[in-house]
Amino acid sequence: MEALICYTIGMDNDLKRHVCINKGTEPPFSGQYLDHYEDGIYCCGMCNTSLFESSEKYDSGTGWPSFSNAISETIGTSMDDSLGMVRTEVHCKTCKAHLGHVFDDGPTHLRYCINSVALNFKPGN
Ligand SMILES: [Zn+2]
Repeated sequence: MEALICYTIGMDNDLKRHVCINKGTEPPFSGQYLDHYEDGIYCCGMCNTSLFESSEKYDSGTGWPSFSNAISETIGTSMDDSLGMVRTEVHCKTCKAHLGHVFDDGPTHLRYCINSVALNFKPGN
């Protein structure tokens, strides 16, 4: 897959490693894309594969960027039973970077709860 050139804004590499490689979670209400509503594509922070369209982004009130849909063929899922919960983990299919989790309580039945640090935003339509 051809990698897209995306913008990187002040990426914290330790936090990025914690989230994308160690499947951690950034602190809520801390991410650079939480209140970010420009038109464009949210790409993988590791390999720049296109993952989410800005039109699918909404404010879920959880403290993490949330999307009602993904560019499905670029997103993989797996079961995550850590922390005593059963959740669906989502990752980039291209590079396997952990992105966050998907829940079925969103406005269109899905809520992708994604770490800002796992994303790179590419402005445009
Ligand atoms: Zn990736």
